[in-house]
Amino acid sequence: MDCLFCKIIAGDIPCTKVYEDDKILCFKDINPQAEVHALVVPKLHIACANEITDENSAVVAYIFKKIPEIAKLLGVSDYRIINNCGEGAGQTVMHLHFHILSGANLGERLV
Ligand code: AMP
Ligand code: ZN
Repeated sequence: MDCLFCKIIAGDIPCTKVYEDDKILCFKDINPQAEVHALVVPKLHIACANEITDENSAVVAYIFKKIPEIAKLLGVSDYRIINNCGEGAGQTVMHLHFHILSGANLGERLV
C-alpha cells in the first residue's frame, strides 16, 4: 500500500521515534507547528476518522489511553490533540493520526 505512515511504521522511512509498542507508534512531526509536535498513529492502517468502526475502534481508545504517557515522554502536561479528517479539513496523509501539540507558541485559536 502506498501509505507514508505505513512505510514509517514498517521502518522503510526513518522517523524520530517517541514511543512504540505492538499497536501504536508516536514520532515527531517533520514540519513542527509548535514547540512540541508529535504524531500518534495506529499500526493498523485506518485511512481517517470516517473509517473508524466497531472492529478497529479499540486501537483509537488505546491511543487515548496512552497519550498521557506519551505526553510525559514529550515532557509536557498541557497539550492539544488534533485530528484532521479528509482533504477538506487539511488531512494530507491518509493514515489516521493524532497531532499532539504543546509549547509556549501554541495559539489559543489554533482550532
Ligand atoms: P495532516 O495534515 O493532519 O494529514 O498531518 C500530516 C502531518 O504529517 C503533517 O503535519 C506533516 O508535517 C507530517 N509529516 C509528513 N511527512 C512526514 C514524515 N516523513 N515524518 C514525520 N511527519 C511527517
Ligand atoms: Zn497506512
